Amino acid sequence: MQGEIRKCDVCSKSPVEVWVHSLSTGAMSIASCRECLSHFAEPEFAFQHLRDFVGQPDGSGLREEVYEMETYANGKYITYRDWLKENPFNQEDYDEQMKHLEEINQKYYEENNPLNEEGIL
Ligand SMILES: [Zn+2]
Repeated sequence: MQGEIRKCDVCSKSPVEVWVHSLSTGAMSIASCRECLSHFAEPEFAFQHLRDFVGQPDGSGLREEVYEMETYANGKYITYRDWLKENPFNQEDYDEQMKHLEEINQKYYEENNPLNEEGIL
């Protein structure tokens, strides 16, 4: 099987042969290089999502095998357990993310709400 030549969504190596597959952590597809595939590595943003929106603020609350999943960060493959130690939950960052998401949602609502144009549903 031959992959496409482009950037790896996990380790960002480019150009490299990649294969598209779904994430283990959510309903989304990414393209991974052979090395990242061999580690079953998730992109770092998936770990950020697990930390901020799925697990408890102290990092607990997930199935044990989740903590053994790997990502590629700072030039190396690292488990979620070790990544959490280096990237603990930060309330200020979380609040900033939520504010940004609310702004995106509000903008989408304003641009797509039929009441804005017609005054009726
Ligand atoms: Zn890769």
